[in-house]
Amino acid sequence: MTKRLLAVLAHPDDESFGPGGTFARYAAEGVDVHIAIATDGAAGSVASGYEEAREKLAEVRAGELETAVSVLGATLHTLGYRDSGYINDPANQHPEAFINADEYEAIGRVVRLIREIQPQVVVTHDETGNYFHPDHIFCWKITTPAFHAAGDPTQYPDIGPAPYQPQRLYYTAFPNTMIKFYTFLMRLRGQDPRHAGRNKDIDFTRLGFPRNKIHAVIDYRDYWDVKREASAKHASQGGGTGNSRALPEWFQRRFLARETYIRAVPPVPDGFRETDLFE
Ligand SMILES: [Zn+2]
Repeated sequence: MTKRLLAVLAHPDDESFGPGGTFARYAAEGVDVHIAIATDGAAGSVASGYEEAREKLAEVRAGELETAVSVLGATLHTLGYRDSGYINDPANQHPEAFINADEYEAIGRVVRLIREIQPQVVVTHDETGNYFHPDHIFCWKITTPAFHAAGDPTQYPDIGPAPYQPQRLYYTAFPNTMIKFYTFLMRLRGQDPRHAGRNKDIDFTRLGFPRNKIHAVIDYRDYWDVKREASAKHASQGGGTGNSRALPEWFQRRFLARETYIRAVPPVPDGFRETDLFE
């Protein structure tokens, strides 16, 4: 039986900067990996040198996304929404912004994908949106009910082929041990972790989950370069160079090439640990 994975993520770049190592590894191991990106990324910030791309950012980012997803070895789907900004961004007032979408209708778009693709495993952002990004949180908010509705013949009866119930639902989540390590590095470099990110509006000290809430750890050491290559395709977003630039690459590859998840369905007790989403 073919193993299939569907990830529903907010922005063009979340698939590479986020769980890209997991996707690259599973695709290389023969899993049919599908990535659905909810928004066009048009409210995202642009890296220096890409100011001109501002005007046609959705178009630029669609091209970057397509090449990044093919580097990962996955199949791309889009939900077709307009990007919202970070908390308090004026882009969030736009009536077509993802976070203002009709929830019932948005859940239906994910139900359709689940019924068409029939994945055993579904992945989305966690309830904190990794760093409280409203689009990430909205992904969690629609994908969780869609996971359950897809297998229920009484819900969305006219959408997609027959009802299909995936087996597992995972949320991408960072352990706060890792976050503490990054905030330590930020302080070393004279940065304030409570006002981080390009717009200084991300409070790193509030991020992450206790270690015993992290249920799955995927080692992607052998796919480190693939993730890096896919991330580099998002040039208008800086190509995925983060805090870890301060660390030697051998160290990162050896100790940081892990992506971590909360297992939402079926539920598991705190402290549970697995190393394969299909195990
Ligand atoms: Zn994002």
